[in-house]
Amino acid sequence: MTVTVATLGFPRIGPRRELKFALESFWAGKITEGELCEAAAGLRAAVWARQHALGADHIPTGDFSFYDHVLDTSAMLGAVPARYGWTGDAVGLGTYFAMARGTPGEGGHIAQEMTKWFDTNYHYMVPELAAGQALRLSSTKALDDYLEAKALGYDTRPVLLGPVTWLSLAKGRDVDPFDRLDDVLAIYCELLEKLRDAGAQWVQIDEPALVLDLDGRQRAAFTRAYARFARRGPKIMLATYFGALDDNLGLATSLPVEGLHVDLARAPEQLDTVLAAAPKEMLLSLGVVDGRNVWRADLETLLDRLEPLAARRDFIVAPSCSLLHVPVDLGLEKSLDPEVAQWLAFAVQKIEELATLKRALNGGRHIVAGALAASSQAAANRRTSPRIHNPAVAARLAAVTPDMARRRSPYAERTSAQRAQLNLPAFPTTTIGSFPQTEAVRAARARFNRGDIDAGEYEGFLRAETEQAIRWQEEVGLDVLVHGEFERNDMVQYFGEQLAGFAFTRNAWVQSYGSRCVRPPILYGDVSRPTAMTVDWWRYAQGATERPMKGMLTGPVTILNWSFVRDDQPREASCRQIALAIRDEVVDLEAAGARVIQIDEAALREGLPLRRRDWAHYLGWAVECFRLTASGVEDATQIHTHMCYSEFNDILPSIGAMDADVISIETARSQMELIEAFADYKYPNEIGPGVYDIHAPRIPDSEEMAQLLRLARGHLPPEQLWVNPDCGLKTRKWEEVRPALVNMVAAARALRESAA
Ligand code: GLN
Ligand code: ZN
Repeated sequence: MTVTVATLGFPRIGPRRELKFALESFWAGKITEGELCEAAAGLRAAVWARQHALGADHIPTGDFSFYDHVLDTSAMLGAVPARYGWTGDAVGLGTYFAMARGTPGEGGHIAQEMTKWFDTNYHYMVPELAAGQALRLSSTKALDDYLEAKALGYDTRPVLLGPVTWLSLAKGRDVDPFDRLDDVLAIYCELLEKLRDAGAQWVQIDEPALVLDLDGRQRAAFTRAYARFARRGPKIMLATYFGALDDNLGLATSLPVEGLHVDLARAPEQLDTVLAAAPKEMLLSLGVVDGRNVWRADLETLLDRLEPLAARRDFIVAPSCSLLHVPVDLGLEKSLDPEVAQWLAFAVQKIEELATLKRALNGGRHIVAGALAASSQAAANRRTSPRIHNPAVAARLAAVTPDMARRRSPYAERTSAQRAQLNLPAFPTTTIGSFPQTEAVRAARARFNRGDIDAGEYEGFLRAETEQAIRWQEEVGLDVLVHGEFERNDMVQYFGEQLAGFAFTRNAWVQSYGSRCVRPPILYGDVSRPTAMTVDWWRYAQGATERPMKGMLTGPVTILNWSFVRDDQPREASCRQIALAIRDEVVDLEAAGARVIQIDEAALREGLPLRRRDWAHYLGWAVECFRLTASGVEDATQIHTHMCYSEFNDILPSIGAMDADVISIETARSQMELIEAFADYKYPNEIGPGVYDIHAPRIPDSEEMAQLLRLARGHLPPEQLWVNPDCGLKTRKWEEVRPALVNMVAAARALRESAA
């Protein structure tokens, strides 16, 4: 029997973010469309050559994208909203980037909405469908890329995002996207025939929707779609990932497709049931190497599992999902500690692992003895390294009592202690934490990182910025001040860099959306806090004003959700460790005199599991971790939290259970819609509904903000309301922030007057 290697998809940004720089030069008018396309072709050719050299048998094409593969699919289908003035020819780059980024200036158009791709940190452009919209094959990118690779000598496996997943992600205006199923399928059929005629043997159709809770309509669409595709074009490898098929297993294995890919990193337990359910002639692709995390695989353990199977049938070994979600090459990471580095595998190393598995399965372990020994040694080292396992952390966790996750008194008692201590006016005003990260702030940080200025000079600069921000806040009359976060590069990285158990990389970028890339911290070991992280800055800031200065921290769930997290213990265990470390910081801030401490949980919602039945468990530990972080203080110390989104309806009981004294949320864009939900739920604590949408350069006037506040007051008693923007201001310019906050304070005053 033969085992082969597939990769499902490879990072498209290039090892040195070449795509980012090419795109941004093009957008800035510095290079032509021809030059951009040439750069992209160069990247694709390099990616194919690399995967081929590493031993991949099924090399994907069509996984490259100028912006996003969901947007590519919308372009393929001609699902271009009318506002972009598209004439119905092939979708060119102009239209494509308009959909991705909007068009500037007067008469410009907003971009398509963007949201998270399943439970990853990658963002896709939400497809839009309007009633009566004509759909037709409008981009042959999949075919073009296939032919381009073929001309270079690679017979590849084109990748398409499947029709049911695309429809499931689409937003219909006056139309249910699934009403358009047949039109969409006709276009896929046309393309599949073209691919077959061009010589493609296989096509990979990604249907991650198969790991979600599906309704009857989606299930019927799967059956209908794949019946229509059967024997239409190339053989179909139906790829599922991000979780187990579970109740959709029967559906997936009954579809008339020639191959099925399953995720065995997220759901290793499904191997046996998949084997039992899949017809014998169905080629299975086993996602045994984690495609979305950075850990090196334990190859001998995998072989123990796969060898008996290889004696019985052909199969493919593959990463669990596209390698899009991991950095390109560990080889570029020169400054990592070697002990940590040996635990890691990025996209290139993951293909090497798959090639090693293949060789061992086809020819016996002895032919790759060296690679297997190295893998086992790294795995053994991870199990025992003192760098990972810190007995002091384990002891502290074991000593956690339920009391530690509970404030001393209920909110009703705490609030009187806080009111007595803070003595704030009605409708108190505050901001979410950061002030504009200006060119000057970024330049100073870059100079400091390069060693051009020393720590003293850099700190002096930051202090001056902070002091200025404080003076200005006093001048405009804000009630609870912030220091501005000028010293922070990123709200997670700043803490990760100071906590034990995290590693940081120089070149390990992954695409977040479009040209934007991030370097998530790598949480590899037990987390502890060697020393206070924010207390000195807070002390400096509070020393500059009489008004209350907020302590500003990132919460444990957010730190967890924005990192690559170790896979040798449950995520909740890592989260508890972070919670204890941040709890110490909260207590230290209080001891230093802080009366208000904000713990941001910007990413709590995005950690929600894909399957509903797993929500309660996640929310249970996430809320407990927040409470563990927040509950070490006296009643009079006011704990704030902040969340940057507007979908709360389904998690309100958990938000309530967090028991923060004050929560600030995003409400400006939705006209306070959310406030109703909080009111209906009878949320008992204080709320700052955002009245200033910080996502746009627009400066709202004070009447507009007062109007929003009146809406909120219509639903909630005035004692419960705070006045603040939707989120931090770091992406805005001072020219926008200054007048907007002046107007915001005026709006709060207007409400105070009308109340009095
Ligand atoms: N305190 C952070 C800031 O103001 C919060 C950012 C966020 O929620 N994304 O920047
Ligand atoms: Zn926010």
